[in-house]
Amino acid sequence: MTADLHKVSFLLVDDLEENLLSLEALLKREDLEILKARSGEEALELLLRHDVALALLDVQMPGMDGFELAEFLRGSERTRHIPIIFVTAGSADQQRRFRGYEAGAVDFIQKPIEADILRSKASIFFDLYQQRQQIASQRDKLAEVTQALRDADRRKDEFLAVLGHELRNPVAALGAGIHLLQKAQTPDRTAAICTQMDRQLFHLSRLVEDLLDIARISEGKISLQKQPIELATILQSAIEAAEPNLKTAGHTFSVALPDKPVWLEADHTRMAQVMANLLNNAAKYTPPGGSVSLTARQTDGHVQIDVADNGVGIPLEMQSQIFQIFAQVDEHREQSAGGLGIGLALVHQLVALHNGSIDVQSEGQGKGSTFTVRLPVGEGVPSSDL
Ligand code: ADP
Repeated sequence: MTADLHKVSFLLVDDLEENLLSLEALLKREDLEILKARSGEEALELLLRHDVALALLDVQMPGMDGFELAEFLRGSERTRHIPIIFVTAGSADQQRRFRGYEAGAVDFIQKPIEADILRSKASIFFDLYQQRQQIASQRDKLAEVTQALRDADRRKDEFLAVLGHELRNPVAALGAGIHLLQKAQTPDRTAAICTQMDRQLFHLSRLVEDLLDIARISEGKISLQKQPIELATILQSAIEAAEPNLKTAGHTFSVALPDKPVWLEADHTRMAQVMANLLNNAAKYTPPGGSVSLTARQTDGHVQIDVADNGVGIPLEMQSQIFQIFAQVDEHREQSAGGLGIGLALVHQLVALHNGSIDVQSEGQGKGSTFTVRLPVGEGVPSSDL
């Protein structure tokens, strides 16, 4: 079936070639495709391949006449709504035979045809058809938007449930800490309790900071402190932040950077946050003793940074969603270590604010993942490096 929004098709059926040609000349317009059939059978064949906005049927034809053809159209789900104009030389009596036609869009035009009347009737059907097409495409778009909103709503519900859970743990631990502090009898005991409370507080403030960042970005309120900065400086900060997690998990960690300095126009803290997030995820979603690598190479006007691991991988169907807020792979919940599916959404938005892009490749569950960040190489190269 053709569903070209811009082209509308009319079907003309008449056994006489000269009639077809004069009707075609009369109705011709650029946005109209005219299909011509010399018999009912030929018309049915054309209708198998095309959607038509109007059928103009000659009533008197040898073999299947116009009315019989219309009966066929009425009998099929696909063609029963095609409006029909019968071209007739007969009396008004004949017209009654078609009162019951369901489309409600049956009209008659008497021979000899008056050009203006036919043109104006045809253009009404033309417009109606286009409006129907537009409504159908708007309906499809609306359905897509509705589905996306439903998904977002579901993710938000899941997020609230997880957030409640995640906040309860540190809050309970801090409460217990205060209680214990009141009873602590030695400075060592007090110090140990404070260290534990500190860890809980750190977790809590990370959650709150991430949430605030997301809110700032969606409100367009985040302000980046972009400056010319060397990629290696950013990666160094990121490595420092993620190294404890990589070490604790016993991963082998390798780094490969370009020989020459790569200058970016970037916010040091935010870009380091991006890269640290990817490295921390690699550490988190890789079973102990795995390997994680950080590789950067310069391509045409860009630098490509890969963070690869040989961990749990990401199922194919989740790869397109993974950068949406609150998206988490169900099977990974245990490894997420209190994560809420915010990190990658933040990473995605921060990279976009640096005019870059990020994507993920994974062969699937258990096959490791590679996150690739592409950033434009900056113009603010200090003169000493030129
Ligand atoms: P979380 O706080 O859950 O880690 P993120 O937004 O950082 O949130 O990541 C979203 C989801 O993407 C994670 O829950 C996890 O399922 C998946 N994911 C992220 N990084 C990796 C990785 N390196 N390997 C496998 N899965 C990953």
